[in-house]
Amino acid sequence: MIREDLASSLLPYESDNHLNWITHIPGRPQNCGMDEVSICFAHSRNCFPLDNKDLTRMYFEGRDQATMLAEYIKKRVPGFENSFLTTTASLLGVRESRRIVGEYRLTAEDIAFCRKHDDVIAISNHGYDIHNFVETGNIKWAPIMLNGEVQYVISNSGGFGTTTPPPDGKPVVNAKGQTAEYAEFEPNRCYDIPYRCLVPVRVENLLVAGRNLSSDVYAQSGARLILCCLSMGEAAGAAVCVSIAQDISPRKIDVTALQKELIGTGCNLGQAMRHIKDFSGVSLGYEEAYPNPEHRSHAVTIQNRSNEFTRK
Ligand SMILES: Cc1cc2nc3c(=O)[nH]c(=O)nc-3n(C[C@H](O)[C@H](O)[C@H](O)COP(=O)(O)OP(=O)(O)OC[C@H]3O[C@@H](n4cnc5c(N)ncnc54)[C@H](O)[C@@H]3O)c2cc1C
Repeated sequence: MIREDLASSLLPYESDNHLNWITHIPGRPQNCGMDEVSICFAHSRNCFPLDNKDLTRMYFEGRDQATMLAEYIKKRVPGFENSFLTTTASLLGVRESRRIVGEYRLTAEDIAFCRKHDDVIAISNHGYDIHNFVETGNIKWAPIMLNGEVQYVISNSGGFGTTTPPPDGKPVVNAKGQTAEYAEFEPNRCYDIPYRCLVPVRVENLLVAGRNLSSDVYAQSGARLILCCLSMGEAAGAAVCVSIAQDISPRKIDVTALQKELIGTGCNLGQAMRHIKDFSGVSLGYEEAYPNPEHRSHAVTIQNRSNEFTRK
């Protein structure tokens, strides 16, 4: 539909090649599921978010696109005939800008191979999700050396939904090199965020939590998701408490003490699914992680369905 409407100029230009998200409007939960939706469709590209000129352009583009897309949706999306634009975000959202250089740099390979780290302070299962910098679409793969050649690896079945395909007509594959028809992903796949990603190499008494963690561009695109940022923030806050209690800089704290603190307050560091080195404090077995057998079987069913889907 978007392609047709661009050709006929009903849609003046392409802000994205797919409708991204429809959710309730932040801060208005009372209207959730009723007559208001928030649509994430506007996009600025070719941006350098540290440049004031680009930032200003992004504000103009975003507001223009909001009006343009609201009119378009009203004309073209059934059910929206009487819709109108109620509000737009007060501030610009930027998915990526500065990243700190930390004691460890999370990499595309960490995500592809679900690498585990002894100093885990958060986990995530979100795959690569780069909003294409120069043209419309999303990049859900990373170029990784696999079996002696560069392959375009996705980290979970969501990667098959890439709207920007790899170069030269190459397929996307999973970390075992399996293409869409054969790819399977084990249940409970997740990768670790090591504490070292929050600890800057050069600045003392500073922790960095969120989308500016120490990472390469591919790893950042997975780890920048809200849940993971929240977990990193929680860990940074707890690390500061440990640092004060131990009277040493956050760089030098006993990470096992931090992990104990986090798990003790209900954080999931994947402790139910693997052994964390030097950690013998509060631990949960798989059974306790899913105390309700119905939920446990649902988790398995969902994973199997996802594997079946990828083979279609
Ligand atoms: C349009 C858009 C859609 C997204 N959709 C999703 C989604 O559907 N799901 C998902 O999981 N993630 C989504 N993300 C990603 C996610 O929202 C962000 O990566 C995440 O919120 C980043 O959290 P953060 O705490 O690192 O940074 P931010 O949320 O950017 O927080 C940084 C805060 O610091 C404040 N600040 C900046 N400078 C200063 C200063 N000098 N002094 C004081 N305060 C300052 C800012 O105002 C801001 O409040 C989306 C991002 C964007 C832009």
